[in-house]
Amino acid sequence: MWCEKDLVAKIKLGYYKKVINPTLEDQNYLSILTSSKKKMNMAKIRMNSRELHSETGRWVVPKTPWMERICHICEDRNIVDENHFLLECPAYNDIRSQFHNLCYNIDLPSLLQCQNYSDLGKLLSKIFEHRNKISNQIK
Ligand SMILES: [Zn+2]
Repeated sequence: MWCEKDLVAKIKLGYYKKVINPTLEDQNYLSILTSSKKKMNMAKIRMNSRELHSETGRWVVPKTPWMERICHICEDRNIVDENHFLLECPAYNDIRSQFHNLCYNIDLPSLLQCQNYSDLGKLLSKIFEHRNKISNQIK
């Protein structure tokens, strides 16, 4: 019998295989990136533990229903998953425009499988920093 912890681990493994690393090949971003902050942000997004509301909503008691795990940063009222956070949320459009080579007309698996670890690390750092800044202003 599956316990919830096993199911969550299975869902996260499925996400990892589907979105991050379909061939389960070794990923060398940890040896390429020199900044520990970039490594941490990359690991967070790749391990589905990036503290987005889609994830944190299941940490509270009672759990926030999936459809109510919306983005509090923008007015779009979309569920704040990785796709919204990295590719859709208008609050980060200015940052994405600085990384046009990575972000233009791309889907989430392609972005996260990108081998340009340096730029991807910079993009993630800037988006996380901006989110934290906005979140602190909202509180
Ligand atoms: Zn948003």
